[in-house]
Amino acid sequence: MLSAECPSCGAPVLFQHAASAAAVCGSCQSTVIRDGIDELVVWGKVSAFSRDLSPIQVGASGVLGDRPFQVAGVLRRSRPGVRWNEWYIVFDDRTTGWLSEGNGFLQIFGGAHAGAVLPSYASLHLGEAIEIGDDRYIVIERAEAAVVAAEGELPFAVSDGLMRPYADLRRSDGRATGTIDYADSPPEFWPGRIVTLESLKMEGLRAFAGWSDPTLVSMQGPEVQLRRGLDCPNCGGSLPLRAPGTTVQLVCEYCGSELSIEEVGDENTARVLRAHRGQVWKPRLPLGKRGRIDDVEWEIIGAMKRAVRADGIDYPWVEYFLHNPYRGSRFLMEDQRGHWNLADRLGGVPTSQGTSAWARQRLGSEVYRHFSGGKAVVRNVLGELDWEVKVGDSVDTHDYVSPPHMLSREGDRHEVAWSRSTYLSKEAVEDAFGVSVRSPWGVAANQPNPYSKRSIWLAAILSAGSLWVGSLVVLLLGIFLARNETVLDSSYTSTGAVSDVWVSEPFAVDAGFRNHLGVRSSTTMLRSAGQVHVALINQDNGQVYLPLNTTSQNAASGSIYFADPGAYVARVEIARPAPSAAQDKLNVKIVLDPISGFPCFAFFFPFLIPIVLTLARASFESRRWSESDHAG
Ligand SMILES: [Zn+2]
Ligand SMILES: [Zn+2]
Repeated sequence: MLSAECPSCGAPVLFQHAASAAAVCGSCQSTVIRDGIDELVVWGKVSAFSRDLSPIQVGASGVLGDRPFQVAGVLRRSRPGVRWNEWYIVFDDRTTGWLSEGNGFLQIFGGAHAGAVLPSYASLHLGEAIEIGDDRYIVIERAEAAVVAAEGELPFAVSDGLMRPYADLRRSDGRATGTIDYADSPPEFWPGRIVTLESLKMEGLRAFAGWSDPTLVSMQGPEVQLRRGLDCPNCGGSLPLRAPGTTVQLVCEYCGSELSIEEVGDENTARVLRAHRGQVWKPRLPLGKRGRIDDVEWEIIGAMKRAVRADGIDYPWVEYFLHNPYRGSRFLMEDQRGHWNLADRLGGVPTSQGTSAWARQRLGSEVYRHFSGGKAVVRNVLGELDWEVKVGDSVDTHDYVSPPHMLSREGDRHEVAWSRSTYLSKEAVEDAFGVSVRSPWGVAANQPNPYSKRSIWLAAILSAGSLWVGSLVVLLLGIFLARNETVLDSSYTSTGAVSDVWVSEPFAVDAGFRNHLGVRSSTTMLRSAGQVHVALINQDNGQVYLPLNTTSQNAASGSIYFADPGAYVARVEIARPAPSAAQDKLNVKIVLDPISGFPCFAFFFPFLIPIVLTLARASFESRRWSESDHAG
């Protein structure tokens, strides 16, 4: 550690890290550089870094993989409409890196990549792919940004307004990034990754009043108020600034005027971009409302209504801008039919599987199909946003779906931005924000197909399988338990009398599982000549069974189940309207526990369950795609 006097004001300036070449004096804001072993030289002046812009602070620590690091200093950089922080980090092995915080992302750069062949700044074009080493990157930003504030130790000397050209790069895996620093010659390439404070196991973070994060346990220092207030320069209304440091534009909730938010040290000021007259738009969920989604708390700080116009009809939706000082930002979206989505700006750029806008896009292991494209126009804006936007602004959009996810590409002449949204149920929104919202109708582009759920298919296949096995068991039991024993097979010739009664020889019915008696009678006598009635009588207990259903042929059949065991006789009575000379023959046959016929459709019925489910799934998909550009 080096401690020396500030050459400008005499206050002590500490160098805790040997890797640091410069430092900002905390007393007079002079930038001092090391000259020799313990001599400091004043290089310039820089504005103080506003202390309540970020949960990260000088002295905080973390781990990248297995490399512990400490935050040694910070640069605040700015270009029109955008501001971000670059935290200078020093690893235990004295190598250095950067933690870049802005646009809703945290990126870590663990060290410069030496020896790469880099394109010149002048030759770079937005959206083009470049090869660095074996990797392919897309250029998403190419600009110069000024240093507007600094604090602590730095690897080089800075002063207010120092411009540094850079290019920001993305890879297609959604996490890997890169930046080329063109400030020095030769330029340096820094491969990076999108990370979270949690994944870096950050400790010593700033505690914000009213915000807590269960994943970040180690906060240091007194709680600071994140919120700043300012007055609307158009209507005088007193406005809260809920995300200072992030917010670039604010639309007054009283007069609807669009205000540009400027930073002056620890204060924010507002400048009227466009004054508004007339009604102020009010979205369904109010600004300042907080909700918890997937265990992360979010505050609604802004909202925007946009619409795609097709065939003269507006298809509007509302986007709520959500903020959490430890987690960055998200978008909560409600479409016109009440479907909700939670969207995140995408760190990477998906890989297109073709050259047209309709080509499929791959992100990680997921492949997304093109759903629809159009021109999205801003209709209303309210509250705070971290970029500048005004009513009437438009971008070309293309949506690609892989339910429950959707990728959205938004592009204008200057940049292309990707976001990924996840479908949220109505209940999830109600639980999160403690409000009741309308029930959605129709099928949303990325709504999960309820008939594709694994649990439903598992239940269907299990129930179909068990029904099939159940039918088989019943059939086999029927065969196994059948005694199929003929206990009576007796014929008789009628006398031709008006009332002609015949009683069979006794036969035994032994106790069994079912005691099913199958009775069948047949006769040569026509139905018009008289009627045959068959009864079975249990001679042991006097029970009489009248089992037969007579057909028009005077033949009859019937069944008795669970007949009491015992000795039986069959009693046949023929009733004639008049005596007959014909000697009609009659036969009665009784089988004990016959093999009964089994309904074969029982084996086909279980297959109906997956068939019906497949049809329902296909019908849901056809409703989804009927609203796409590919319907027809
Ligand atoms: Zn000083
Ligand atoms: Zn106002």
